[in-house]
Amino acid sequence: MTTLGTASAAPGEFDTGRLEVGETRDGSTVGLPVAVINGARDGQTLYMQAASDGDELNGVGVIQQVVPQLDPAELSGTVLVVGIVNYHAFQIAQHRNPVDDTKMNRAYPGDENGTSSERIAAATFDVARQADLILDLHQGSTSRMINEVRVRCGRRHRMHRECLELAKAFGIGYVLDQKGPDGQLARAGPDEGVPTIDPELGGCVGWDDESIRLGVRGVFNVLRHYDFFDDDADLQRQTRAKSFDQYGSPAGGLVSFEKELGTRVSPGDTLFEVTDVFGKLKARVTADNSGIFWRSRRLPQVATGEYVCSVGTNVDTY
Ligand SMILES: [Zn+2]
Repeated sequence: MTTLGTASAAPGEFDTGRLEVGETRDGSTVGLPVAVINGARDGQTLYMQAASDGDELNGVGVIQQVVPQLDPAELSGTVLVVGIVNYHAFQIAQHRNPVDDTKMNRAYPGDENGTSSERIAAATFDVARQADLILDLHQGSTSRMINEVRVRCGRRHRMHRECLELAKAFGIGYVLDQKGPDGQLARAGPDEGVPTIDPELGGCVGWDDESIRLGVRGVFNVLRHYDFFDDDADLQRQTRAKSFDQYGSPAGGLVSFEKELGTRVSPGDTLFEVTDVFGKLKARVTADNSGIFWRSRRLPQVATGEYVCSVGTNVDTY
């Protein structure tokens, strides 16, 4: 019998339930929606979670499509799912947990006696650390971003090779291989010896069908590569960036981009222009280094110094 919160499934069974993580201000129980798919045959355990950032809904879209397609009778191993991690932020469609104004993905591995976010992190990490593989489904929040997978443990970490393999198995095409900030699940997982990746499924307001489709395919690629199913996945060569250049606006006004997401950038290429309300050119910003146009702001209006776009740099393939 495998149990996650109130969900319990024997081999060959599926169950859903709630993982309790405290109470709201009115005393109602906070229960994260969870699912257990316990395969009829032995195998590894995959843990996946979504909406660690409360406005990142593509991962929820992936879980909504993956879970009904997982037949425990055909599965070797177990899949554990927390469908919505950042409960409080999800309720109000915000990025950060409003109870403590914290970004959940800076709170791992958490603290069971800590703040609201630290307690949720601790409760979910307690499940995740017992798995063999961790997928933490994110996206570039509401800004526009390519579909990519992040390896956050750092290139000198003992689990780096395993995390890179998991990223390659997910197979979305682009990998950011750069040590992340403290408190990310994609760092806390490898520290406990569990290969962990942070798929970043595009960026949008609401749901993006194409990013969700790629995320669903990625989860099934992982399940096939790690023998949850009999058929094998073909590993595809991934394009990897090892760092970012971020560009801000040198002037206030309205931004128009000269590059599409995912296109190659050479030094000196124009990335964007800033014009005033009457269409007069105020600034033209060019790339410092070669790379891939990776991410951009969604809204055109900018103040001086405000974030505009990112270029993934130090690009190779593996
Ligand atoms: Zn996120």
